[in-house]
Order: sequence, then structure tokens, then C-alpha cells
Amino acid sequence: STAIERHLYDVVVIGAGGAGLRAAIEARLAGKRTAIISKSLFGKAHTVMAEGGAAAAMGNANSRDNWMVHFRDTMRGGKFLNNFRMAELHAKEAPERIWELETYGALFDRTKDGKISQRNFGGHEYPRLAHVGDRTGLELIRTLQQKIVSLQQEDYAETGNYESRIRVFQETTVTELLLDGDRVAGAFGYYRESGEFVLFEAPAVVLATGGVGRSYKVTSNSWEYTGDGHALALRAGATLINMEFLQFHPTGMVWPPSVKGILVTESVRGDGGVLRNSEGKRFMFDYVPDVFRKQYAETEEEADRWYTDPDNNRRPPELLPRDEVARAINSEVKAGRGSPAGGVFLDIASRMPAEQIIRRLPSMHHQFKELADVDITKEPMEVGPTCHYVMGGVEVEPDTGAAFGRVQGLFAAGEVSGGMHGSNRLGGNSLSDLLVFGKRAGEHASAYVDTLPARPKPAKVDVAAAVEVALAPLVRTGGENPYTLQQDLQVVMGDLVGIIRREGELTDALKRLQELRVRVANVSSDGGRRYNPGWHLALDLRNMLVVSECTAKAALEREESRGGHTREDFPKMSPQWRRVNLVCSVDEAGEVHLDRKPVPRMRDELLSLFERSELTKYMTDEELSELEAE
Ligand code: FAD
Repeated sequence: STAIERHLYDVVVIGAGGAGLRAAIEARLAGKRTAIISKSLFGKAHTVMAEGGAAAAMGNANSRDNWMVHFRDTMRGGKFLNNFRMAELHAKEAPERIWELETYGALFDRTKDGKISQRNFGGHEYPRLAHVGDRTGLELIRTLQQKIVSLQQEDYAETGNYESRIRVFQETTVTELLLDGDRVAGAFGYYRESGEFVLFEAPAVVLATGGVGRSYKVTSNSWEYTGDGHALALRAGATLINMEFLQFHPTGMVWPPSVKGILVTESVRGDGGVLRNSEGKRFMFDYVPDVFRKQYAETEEEADRWYTDPDNNRRPPELLPRDEVARAINSEVKAGRGSPAGGVFLDIASRMPAEQIIRRLPSMHHQFKELADVDITKEPMEVGPTCHYVMGGVEVEPDTGAAFGRVQGLFAAGEVSGGMHGSNRLGGNSLSDLLVFGKRAGEHASAYVDTLPARPKPAKVDVAAAVEVALAPLVRTGGENPYTLQQDLQVVMGDLVGIIRREGELTDALKRLQELRVRVANVSSDGGRRYNPGWHLALDLRNMLVVSECTAKAALEREESRGGHTREDFPKMSPQWRRVNLVCSVDEAGEVHLDRKPVPRMRDELLSLFERSELTKYMTDEELSELEAE
């Protein structure tokens, strides 16, 4: 039947990772009736997989750390394309958000004197990642869930109903946002188990749906990450920025084939692990780019001394930002110096006693033992780049998380939002991003609801259209198989819009995406509406496709190499391009459009945190002479 279950809320949060949960807590604290919707089981999100930690300049491990240093590192990591205001808010507010988690019951690893311990990570000048072994995300999610349960208990005491103010709808996929004119009016979706439809009427929606990695062959992302939030935003009239920037994490497993892409945490390198090629050489010393030359060790001896004496030595090049390390690995493999399975070697075994490895990296030890039959306390790991994180995302107002474009009442936080990380995200900066901007989005979505004179209403025709779109793959017979289509898409994106890009291949990719679009419009799935993963994938495909098109278009347009976008035909970073954000939108007919928009100019007091000699590496002469004139 096409019966539709209806619910009324003030704020609907789509996604139950760190960003979604933190937003929902804030909305509930603001007194709003709040729904949390999650495609996966409650508690299963990327956030839970995060291993290394959350970056926050608490200054526990090195008292010289503060928000200004964190801000600088973040801007450098993103090659100055970051939205400076987001990077500023993030650096300033991350410590508070971490301490607040402890008031919710989190327990981070400690320093000897009882402070929250902080570990080293690529691109961070000081040890900065608050962590719980290599299972930080698990603690983060556990704590946020616990906070939600405690709020539900408070509500029960008052109303006799645990779910009177905050309710979780798990294994529920949202397929469409509903509008009333230009205002958000709700969200439409289905229960995965029963296939029944559900309509959430709400004046404000927070997108917290995470990333897009499932459009790639080799990825650390799991099945949920099909870019749904990105696509929902586009179809609702919002815009995406920086979609050409994808992070290929340098160290994914490369063997055995069944687990190719699964992440090997950067903590392995943060804690002393080194990369070697088939000749046994620590090749990263050959790949330090000029912009980073001053901050990285030139000899193995200096690099090794840094772990115990960071004040008098420079950091090892294995801890360069991820884009640099991923490209270096790619080059070594291409030059014929790769490992048997087509990666390079990551060695912790020769660097630290076995018991220390097991204590500091328990999940990695377990993961390699179980999945690859490799004992990382005795042998090196084989690793290579894997599609990990999307820097691009919903274009938002930095302070509120409100989406740009004509739509009102739409907010975004976490990986689905764009701007914060510029062209490349530093490890550890996502968990902190989720907390900082999740809270802000929840707060401002609630404030927005208070400004409305009346509740927007979803139109009946729009609901009917959403039902029709959702049912189409089941109604159609003899169409394309969703799994084949996904595989074909993954090949196009992996081979032609991957870590190294070229004009001809990008043009080819766009042509193939057009062909895929025609095929996806003809997708069909066998079976009925009860738990039917083929049907679910058929519905996800149109999201993956439109988001992939944004990425390919932007990658073709941006004629430079920066962060997570490398053009073989334009290998240099261009100061002119640093001033440009590429903005994606879709029109009524579903066509993707790309526009150029200036990157906002950094405020003077933030600019003054950098040496002029550093700014000259990024800025145009025109910008520099403006600085001079001031
Ligand atoms: P997620 O945690 O990805 O949650 C998204 C939620 O949205 C899920 O609940 C999903 O079910 C739901 N959803 C998606 N689509 C729909 C839909 N259509 N309808 C309903 N619900 C939907 N970052 C760090 O800072 N430090 C680390 O150490 C670190 N380690 C990582 C390790 C791994 C293996 C991976 C994959 C990532 C790691 N990251 C790390 C990155 C970080 O974990 C993610 O970027 C971050 O968790 C994203 O959080 P989020 O709240 O935005 O979304």
C-alpha cells in the first residue's frame, strides 16, 4: 500500500553520526521537538569508525599550543582555500566541545598528570588529538548517545513518555526534502525493514549525512555513504562548494582484495611508523614540497629524534598532510618501487616494542591479524591510497550552518557541509568539526524555527511525486541492475576522477556519467518493499550520480593542483585559483551547473597570524600589494 506514516517535529536531523547527534542534543536543549533519522542502525556511522582522535588546541601535551596555531595549521592543510571563519570558529571552540563531552561521560586517555592526552597527527604542529586508544569515534558516539538517553529520561520524568521531545528513527532512509515555496517543510523517506513510507513534517532540517565515498572503487567508507545529503541539498535548491576536493587517505589496506580500501589509521605514523618502498628506502624525504620544507626533517636521524624532542627537531615527512603522502605513494608505485600487492610498506614493527604496539594500536593489530593474517608487531603492513573524505559539501553560512541558495530552513553540519577544510582536511579535524558545527547547526535551526510566523506545509503533489520516484525501480521491469550500475560508476570515478586527474579523462568521465544517467533512469530491482537492498541501492544511485557529476565538472574546471585535487596537466598551485570557490547547483530539469564565486577574504587580525613570506606562497601579487598598502 502507499499509506504514509506522518510525524510532526520542530527540527528533523538527518544522520546519526557525531554531527547529527550533537545537533539534535542542541535542538532538544533549545526546547524543540527533535527527530533523528538514520539510514543505518543507531550507533553505526562513520563517526564510530574514527580511530585517531579529535583535534583541539587544549595545550595539554605542549603548552605552546592554542587556537591560533590550530587555525594556522588548518589553513595550511587546506592550502588557504578554507572558509577562514569556519576554520577560526573550529579552532576556537573545539577545546570547549571536547571538555563538554567529558561532562556527558566521555573518558579520554590521560597524560601522567591526569589531563586529556593528545597525540601527534599529520599537519598539526603540536600533539593535539584527544583520543581513546585508536577507538576515539566509538567513545564519541557512545557518549552522545548516552546524553540523548539521559535527556529522554528527563523527558520521561516530566511527560511520562521517553520520546516526547527527542526520538530516533533508525534504519530509515530519507529520499526527498519537501518544501513550501522556498521554505523547508519536511522530509520523506522509507523504513528499510518494512519498505513503508514515512513523512516528517518540520520547519527545519539539519543535514548530517556524512560523505560520498561509495562512488569510488577503493574507499574506506561503508555502504551508507552515497552522498544523499549532498544530493538532497542540491534538489532543494541549495548549493555545493569545492566538490573537486576529495581526500585520498594515504594508508588503506591493499591486500587481500576483499578488504582493499579499509583504513589504516594515521596514528600508526603519528606514533612512529614509517613508510618504505620495495628497496627499503624511507622515500618520503624525497617528497617534501617547498611550502612545507622548513617544517620537516631532512634526515632520518632528525626525524627520529623529533618523537622524543619535538622542540629541537623537525617532524618526519611521513607526517606531511595526507594529500602529499598519498601522491608520494602513488609515484613510488608507478615508478615500480611498490610492494607485491601494489602499495608500499608501513613499518611499525621495527620501530617500537610489540607490547607498546598492542597497547597503542589495538584495533590495527586486530584488523591486520583477522583480515590479512599479518602480525604488525613482526611484519610491515602493505598500504596504499583509499578514497576517504569529501572536503566539498553544502555551502553554508559559517556561523549558523544555514545552507546558501534560495532554500530556507535547511542546515548542514559535519562531512556533508563544505568550506571548513578547504582543499584538504587535516586528520583529527573532522571529529572536532562535527562537534563545533553540529552544535551550531542545532542551535540555529532552533532559532530559525522561532522566527517563523506559521509552520510551512508540504504540498500533496510533492509527496505523491516522492512516492512515485521511490516506487519506480520496483514498478519497472527488465531495467538495469543497480549493482552493475554502481560498479560501473565506481570504475568511472576511480579511474578517471581519482587521485591524479587529466583533462581528457575528465571529459571522458563526464560523457560516461551522462550515459550512466540514462541507464540509472531505467534502473529496476526485483522483489518487493520488505527489506530489499537492491531497491535501496537503486534509489541511492541517482544521488551518487548527481554528486559525482559535480565532482567531475569541478575537477575539469579547476586548472591547478591543490590539496585533494591533482591535475597532471596543471601540476602547480595557482594563486589566481586560490581565490575561487566552484559552486554546484542543479536546475529544475536536474542539470548540473557550475559557477565561480570568490573565496571570502580573511580578516586582518587573522592574516596577521601569518608571516608575509608564507602568504606570498599562496596569494596573487594583487592581493599582496593590497596587504602592503594597508
Ligand atoms: P557520519 O558519522 O558519517 O554519519 C552519517 C549519518 O547519516 C549516518 O547515521 C547515516 O546512516 C546517515 N545517513 C546518510 N544518508 C542518509 C539518508 N539518506 N537518510 C537517513 N540517514 C542517512 N576523522 C577524524 O577527525 N579523526 C579520525 O580519527 C578519523 N578516523 C576515521 C576513520 C575511518 C575508517 C573513516 C571512514 C573516517 C574517519 N574520520 C576521522 C572521518 C570522520 O570519521 C568522518 O568524517 C565523520 O565521522 C563524519 O561524521 P558525520 O557526523 O558528518 O557523518
